[in-house]
Amino acid sequence: MANEPSRITDNLLNVYNYCFVETVPYAFFKPNPERDIPVKLVDKEYHCEACGKVTKVKYNPRPLTYYSKGKLAQQRRIYDTIGKSFPFMGEIAAGEPFTNEAVGLCRECAAKEVLTAETPEQQVVNLSEELHRADELVVAKARAAMEKALTDWLAGVETPETFLQYNLTDFNALRDFICAVMLEDTTGVQAVLTEYLATVGEVETRLRALLAQLPEQWKAYAARSTAVFESMHDKLYHEYTVAFPAAGQLPQDYYINRSIEKKRVLMFLEQPRVESLEELLQEVGFHGEWIDLVNARLQQFGSEQEKE
Ligand SMILES: [Zn+2]
Repeated sequence: MANEPSRITDNLLNVYNYCFVETVPYAFFKPNPERDIPVKLVDKEYHCEACGKVTKVKYNPRPLTYYSKGKLAQQRRIYDTIGKSFPFMGEIAAGEPFTNEAVGLCRECAAKEVLTAETPEQQVVNLSEELHRADELVVAKARAAMEKALTDWLAGVETPETFLQYNLTDFNALRDFICAVMLEDTTGVQAVLTEYLATVGEVETRLRALLAQLPEQWKAYAARSTAVFESMHDKLYHEYTVAFPAAGQLPQDYYINRSIEKKRVLMFLEQPRVESLEELLQEVGFHGEWIDLVNARLQQFGSEQEKE
């Protein structure tokens, strides 16, 4: 159980975003006045095309964000769709605040129209999202199972003398002790792994069968969290082109109709995933809160002794 960031999980999240959310790659970028348009971008609005719900997201304040001509033309089309008048180029050049507009389906409407869809085009995206959720959850579930093994063991300790046989004087000793206790009872974490492997196997079989029927590229709805950053350039992202939602706003998912590439779906499917108990334990890593659990039990014995 290393104290390192979970590499497999981080990689899966990055690849998932690259396939379904923010699909442009990072690249070096120098604003070119012939090609790029500086905009005083301040916020974003998501419009549900089915129920009309609107969600506003404030961006982190910054001087200017560079739009590519293609992305700004796309904005003009979205403004037309929602019946909002697009600012004159002179107003944009003068630094008038600009709102990034998006049209999609809110989660409630997507649950009725998208998540129940039976077309292979949409099912591929829905299954990929299911796999993504399983990838994200397996680490949290494993951590909870490992903590339960520790708290069960601590609850079973009857006398403080039990701790004396372990030398718990420094961080490394405490960490080794906690890991040893957790490794003594891995039934919970093993069950989490077994369930995850079954989900991955089932989703993979269904995805491959669906992908075999589909062309290289198609359109489908994919979830986008309102908390995710966005590049205003349609070919790349860079500090100059990217806008980040300000902190403290409750994230919501909107389903955006977008183009999906078979080779990217396959790339996401074929990433390395947790396969063994050892890998899963490594993904969870070690958490300082576990030391607090041991100390809390020791203090409990201390206060019981004071009472006697
Ligand atoms: Zn809606």
